Amino acid sequence: MANAEPRLLILGAHPDDAEYHAGGLATIYRMLGRDVKMVSVTDGGAGHHERSPAELRILRREEAAAAGRVIGATYETWDFPDAALQSSLDVRYRIIREIRQFKPDLVLTHRTSDYHPDHRAVGQSVQDASYLVKVPHVLPDVAALQKDPVVAYMPDLFTKPVRMQPDVIIDVSDCMDKIVEMLACHQSQVFQWLPHAEGILDTVPADAVDRMIWLRSWFSRHIRPRADHFRIELVAACGSETDQSIEFIEAFEISEYAYRPDADMLSRLFPVHH
Ligand SMILES: [Zn+2]
Repeated sequence: MANAEPRLLILGAHPDDAEYHAGGLATIYRMLGRDVKMVSVTDGGAGHHERSPAELRILRREEAAAAGRVIGATYETWDFPDAALQSSLDVRYRIIREIRQFKPDLVLTHRTSDYHPDHRAVGQSVQDASYLVKVPHVLPDVAALQKDPVVAYMPDLFTKPVRMQPDVIIDVSDCMDKIVEMLACHQSQVFQWLPHAEGILDTVPADAVDRMIWLRSWFSRHIRPRADHFRIELVAACGSETDQSIEFIEAFEISEYAYRPDADMLSRLFPVHH
């Protein structure tokens, strides 16, 4: 089992967080034939200007499952209420159970400093679960792990109290088609709610092909600032000549509270990284 292919579990707060923040790495894992499971801890029932929470809970589950199918990943949407998540014992236990059952080698999640309270709650809950997955008397009905997975934080640009300090940077330019295709499955978000919230709903085309072009441009605009934000690490990893040509990246910071990988393990968990 020691040489089995690494397994990836992404614990995001909302349907779309996994692929928005780490869709490139998820795509690379699937291209290598590795198992990927993406989770939305909340039910996605809050964010919309017209649709009801009851309608959204069903719709968002279907949209997420469709996004997972794009790359052949499992996408699960849990029942915790959207926009009301707390790092409760229930959430912690659900995460411990998930990590013990799926047995990932790498877990990705949000940092505990992030604009959205649900993101912070998931990040905190994963942090709280990280050590306890090994403790047998915690949730004794599901066997404790001998070795805990590596936990890493997905990219964000926030600076208070501290800027993210990435250990790994991945060029995801070649994965953009797949990421955009996954995001497009979240129709009620990327073509409705998010542009509404940004006041640009009138720019979303009606035509299906035009929508994909619009979405690629929207997503590019949103993630392009990452390369500038992490310029120092990008130059350190790739050299000053190559970094300017890299437009789209994903950056990951290894959690100090879970298993600490050596360089070999790091390059296995992040197979195409700079
Ligand atoms: Zn989110």
